[in-house]
Amino acid sequence: TDLTTLLLSRIRDVADHPEPGVMFKDITPLLADPAAFTALTDAFAEMAGRTGATKIVGLEARGFILGAPVAVRAGLGFIPVRKAGKLPGATLSQSYDLEYGSAEIEVHAEDLSADDRVLVVDDVLATGGTAEASIQLIHRAGAEVAGVAVLMELSFLDGRPRLEAALDGAPLEAL
Ligand code: IMP
Repeated sequence: TDLTTLLLSRIRDVADHPEPGVMFKDITPLLADPAAFTALTDAFAEMAGRTGATKIVGLEARGFILGAPVAVRAGLGFIPVRKAGKLPGATLSQSYDLEYGSAEIEVHAEDLSADDRVLVVDDVLATGGTAEASIQLIHRAGAEVAGVAVLMELSFLDGRPRLEAALDGAPLEAL
């Protein structure tokens, strides 16, 4: 579609970043283009409305940049899911495995309740580990997941089949 063409034209492939063998998808050209950034925000906000979301969760760090304007556009609150140790209040924590080692993410426990349906926003779905851990956090907070919205899905890394079990029928949409 026209939207896909516009967005793809504003994503830069950077070879060997952050380490040799990785082709990094750089979204900074998209952020610098107001037409593309607005089109992306509108598409995610439309998904928030369609899925009945009550809150937007953004995943540190690029999910903050993309998710915050979606929350404003959709008229919903924005909740940051951060790397461990950053949030000052009482948190729920979830660890997950990386290729080498593990990582841990957190959310403020008071930010989500049983009444909430949460749309998770991030830039890139790779192995799905980060998004899966965020879904586990949302469920542990007692809330429902309305869906996961990403700009790009690196389908060769099989994040989608990994997430589908955790999503339990909620949509995963990649623009
Ligand atoms: P996953 O947990 O393996 O799915 O990795 C997803 C996380 O890593 C997201 O928060 C992304 O922001 C980040 N990520 C992975 N690959 C890329 C990339 O090529 N460009 C930008 N971010 C990436």
